[in-house]
Amino acid sequence: MRNVPDYFGCLVFDDKVMKSKLPTDVYQSLKKTREEGAPIDNGVANIVANAMKDWAVANGATHFTHWFQPLTGVTAEKHDSFIASADDSGIIMEFSGKELIQGEPDASSFPSGGLRATFEARGYTTWDPTSFAFVKDKTLYIPTAFCSYSGEALDKKTPLLRSMAALNKQALRILRLFGNNDVKSVHANVGPEQEYFLISQEMYELRPDIKFTGRTLFGAKSPKGQEMDDHYFGVIKPKVAAFMAELNEELWKLGVLAKTEHNEVAPSQHELAPIYTTTNIATDHNQLTMELMQKVASKHGLVCLLHEKPFAGINGSGKHNNWSMATNTGINLLSPGATPYENAQFLLFLCAVIKAVDDYQDLLRISVATAGNDHRLGANEAPPAIVSIFLGDELSSILDAIENETVYSGVEKTQLKLGVDVLPKFNRDTTDRNRTSPFAFTGNKFEFRMLGSSNSIACANIMLNAAVAESLKIYADRLEGANDFETTLHEMIKKTIKDHKRIIFNGNGYEEMWIKEATEKRGLCNYRTTPDCIPHMLDKKNVVMLTSHKIFTEAELKSRCEIQLENYCKTVVIEGNTMVSMAKTLILPAVEAYTLDLAKTAKMKQSLDAGLDCSYERKLVKNLSSVIGKIADDVEDLEKVLFDLHGFEDVKDEAFAIRDKVLPKMEALRVVCDEAELLTAKKYWPFPTYGDLLFCVR
Ligand code: ADP
Ligand code: MG
Repeated sequence: MRNVPDYFGCLVFDDKVMKSKLPTDVYQSLKKTREEGAPIDNGVANIVANAMKDWAVANGATHFTHWFQPLTGVTAEKHDSFIASADDSGIIMEFSGKELIQGEPDASSFPSGGLRATFEARGYTTWDPTSFAFVKDKTLYIPTAFCSYSGEALDKKTPLLRSMAALNKQALRILRLFGNNDVKSVHANVGPEQEYFLISQEMYELRPDIKFTGRTLFGAKSPKGQEMDDHYFGVIKPKVAAFMAELNEELWKLGVLAKTEHNEVAPSQHELAPIYTTTNIATDHNQLTMELMQKVASKHGLVCLLHEKPFAGINGSGKHNNWSMATNTGINLLSPGATPYENAQFLLFLCAVIKAVDDYQDLLRISVATAGNDHRLGANEAPPAIVSIFLGDELSSILDAIENETVYSGVEKTQLKLGVDVLPKFNRDTTDRNRTSPFAFTGNKFEFRMLGSSNSIACANIMLNAAVAESLKIYADRLEGANDFETTLHEMIKKTIKDHKRIIFNGNGYEEMWIKEATEKRGLCNYRTTPDCIPHMLDKKNVVMLTSHKIFTEAELKSRCEIQLENYCKTVVIEGNTMVSMAKTLILPAVEAYTLDLAKTAKMKQSLDAGLDCSYERKLVKNLSSVIGKIADDVEDLEKVLFDLHGFEDVKDEAFAIRDKVLPKMEALRVVCDEAELLTAKKYWPFPTYGDLLFCVR
């Protein structure tokens, strides 16, 4: 086996490859484009394209594709081969700068949430030179943004790049005020921890619900679940270890910094965390990670489930989005500094995040809202649907002291005047990392823990970058016009703490008391479900903020709002239809067959005329018959509510109807079917049980 450093990134057209394959001036010009967004001219693009093609062909590629992230949540690609006919009726491999820079996939089948009605239907993809091209499956993948002809974003990358630009602009203004003139750019770093389940392919094939919806819609609790706490960080089983080893290798070849792997809380649940990198690349890499997890799993006879709640009654899967801001000179702006001045700057950036999370808690909640994630948030396995920040005791008491101008016990000073007095040298928080908090400060980064495992991390980071850019803009506006920088800074920090401390909560987020306090006393938003929160995307303050930083246009926001609601509706309807079909074609026939056989057994026993006791069979037949009746009734009810879902003027009304009418009927049907499972002999049951699914991988 080769050493990892020898093959790490071997399929990536990265800086090192560019340097060796491109003429120096072209390399420099491309570097400028990558780092400063300078426009690229045709001549340079042609040379880059040709070098990319030669390199890709040498690595086995025959095709190229513009790889993009439409609003479906997954990635999209259309492959074209490099071949072009040559004069001598042979072929040559060709790839032009034009083909590199722009592509024109047919946009009409991607969700556009009404944008197509108002804008030109055609869409085009544009090369994103900040994320490296790579070779996979004999194809050169070129990361691209996807826009409509009139420039409206039809994807997740475009607004993400815009949000990064906004954050960069505002953060630089602040850094200049602190006299940091050498810093050229600021970017957010992200490390997403990805949770997933592995089950055997064989079992998967037998479960239509997992196939169609990614989760189990039926299944009685297995006698053993996660109660022994024996899976978390447990020994990794050989089959899983083999999967992880191959996954790592594939990811490393693509330059993905796969770092940590371990078993998670639920049986068959695992996690993979990469080393953090810039938001845009982290987002592309997370998409690749999810894709490769599924591909590699199938090579090992496994199926990787990325759904947020594949199994009821045990933990679902999330994705912790570790986020921080850093300068191009390598300084983490969320890392407490050594000098008073650095500490004042740190506190200002910290306050910017606190203010952002409080002001735009709704947008953060919205950014993680899906039908799947609704099953996790607030279900005592993931943070509640209420956004709050965990800061830890030490940092909280420092903020307290600043707000109240009181003595902080960690220093001798009586008052903390920022930038003037020596601030306490506070250590990274070493207290328990409070896993119940949706947004936790963990020393030098924030960990946003509300994301669902299948979510693209783009949306959460767009909102986070945007909201923090807005706080920084407000600060910069004020500070740039201030007569006395230090006093204004001090007052501003004090005011932020006073105005936004309601969002800080260091206690247990799972407790009922917190929900009460958060909503009743603190006035925080509690949007339990997707239909509750999505419409707030269009609240005036949100539209104003997001459009003012040019992250979304109003039309784009409306379209996204609609798509997210449509997606919710479609997801639940598919689940409902799957349940109807499974109940009618699999569960009822199985229970009927068992009931009939039991009845026959009873009759035969009786006919033997030996005074045999048939009371067990009779009782069970009676029970089963009544359960069959209940299942039949509940299927009919569910079918009816699904059938009645039409005539909505607004997708919001449909989403609420689905939540309030369809989901309860699905739940009712599940309860009786799970009851039937426990009464029915195993050999009659038409698909694998929870026990089979959760403990099948060795
Ligand atoms: P854990 O939280 O499991 O103890 P870490 O805190 O080391 O582990 O890392 C979790 C994730 O956070 C990793 O993906 C890691 O790369 C990422 N991470 C660490 N530091 C930062 C940072 N400054 N900014 C963004 N992500 C970070
Ligand atoms: Mg962590």
